[in-house]
Amino acid sequence: MAVVGPTRHSRVSMSMPLMQGAAPGGGSAAAVAAAAAAAANQHHQAILHAAAAASQNTYFHTPHAALPPTHQAPAPPAGQQQPQDVQPDRPIGYGAFGVVWAVTDPRDGRRVALKKLPNVFQSLVSSKRVFRELKMLCFFKHENVLSALDILQPPHLDFFQEIYVITELLQSDLHKIIVSPQHLSADHIKVFLYQILRGLKYLHSARILHRDIKPGNLLVNSNCVLKICDFGLARVEEPDRSRHMTQEVVTQYYRAPEILMGARHYSAAVDVWSVGCIFGELLGRRILFQAQSPIQQLELITDLLGTPALDDMRHACEGARAHMLRRPQRPPSLTALYTLSAQATHEAVHLLCQMLVFDPDKRISVVDALAHPYLDEGRLRYHSCMCKCCYTTPAGLRQYTSDFEPAAPLPFDDHWEKNLKSVQQVKEEMHKFISDQLNTSRVPLCINPQSAAFKSFASSAVAHPCELPPSPRNWE
Ligand SMILES: [Zn+2]
Repeated sequence: MAVVGPTRHSRVSMSMPLMQGAAPGGGSAAAVAAAAAAAANQHHQAILHAAAAASQNTYFHTPHAALPPTHQAPAPPAGQQQPQDVQPDRPIGYGAFGVVWAVTDPRDGRRVALKKLPNVFQSLVSSKRVFRELKMLCFFKHENVLSALDILQPPHLDFFQEIYVITELLQSDLHKIIVSPQHLSADHIKVFLYQILRGLKYLHSARILHRDIKPGNLLVNSNCVLKICDFGLARVEEPDRSRHMTQEVVTQYYRAPEILMGARHYSAAVDVWSVGCIFGELLGRRILFQAQSPIQQLELITDLLGTPALDDMRHACEGARAHMLRRPQRPPSLTALYTLSAQATHEAVHLLCQMLVFDPDKRISVVDALAHPYLDEGRLRYHSCMCKCCYTTPAGLRQYTSDFEPAAPLPFDDHWEKNLKSVQQVKEEMHKFISDQLNTSRVPLCINPQSAAFKSFASSAVAHPCELPPSPRNWE
């Protein structure tokens, strides 16, 4: 079959299949098959349950009859469709803010993920953060970035406290895969890294910094399609270098040196550093810089990169710079990267070294990283059989898209945030935004707070707040 590849490189061998069924926990082929069968059975039961309930008309949640007064929603206007319940069954993960459950959409039996955004209206800061995440999830349209499929119908404004978003459900994430015993080939690593960078190019082109890129926030399905998720810490980049940005971002192991050193302002380069750490982790099957504290984190980085030149620390705060200068001078030991694994080839290490650069202004950009020859095979594999942007004709000829790594058509607008001055104002705007999003032909979904499953869901959402370790404040 003649294939016009999306690369100047030769075609990759397609003889090695990518993993089938990256079941949580990984394991043998038999275990994966058993997990897949169990999942299929669960899926089947969920459909049957919804269908049976539908026949008795019990899964149609009737808000005005079943709910306690505080949750009571007004009866929908005549002609408007009654909302339907979704049934949660198991928690699948915890984001920086909120909990995620696997649920079955009663409208079509499809398995989807339900994320609760809790404590939305605690403060002006938290309500604006949740509104930003919600708007981003509705803005994204990219194969490697998770987006909102639906939002649950909110109650009347007076009782509006929580927000539930439905997204696509993926079976696993890169953290689970890395710690599993499943073999990761060089092809796996290339196609994962390609998709991370492809999704990140889209985010950065929309002027969005993710600020919490880590393996657990990279969801993966059984066909190895990867999607960046959890935008709880994401924000639009700050073009004004004199404006201070929070340092309470990025899980410590993946935190860029400029944030560790107290930089008041940082850029999209912080996400590239995180990707470099993940690339190293994929190669070595262990966390690249696994330190106990932010200061030790910086020590491990300088063990590998050597003591930075004074100019490379110009973004650092004075105390951090003085701390670094008091330490004994260390030489770089980047050749250690070749010992990560047999997959740490010259090409791989060459790209990795350009991501793990101390000075954020000298660190490679996502666009330049995508042009590195190491990613050519990942690009070809992705667009040959995994993407949705290319297709195969009935004659078996692959028709490739004209743009393998599309940018966002327009930047994400955050000017609306500046006009929000009170929690009540955010609440009203968010209620209106959700109601506008729901203006579709589909039956709206809502939850039944009386159901035991949802009581468990609600309590787990509160019980697992994620604390981010702060960067050091006192360098003396
Ligand atoms: Zn494609």
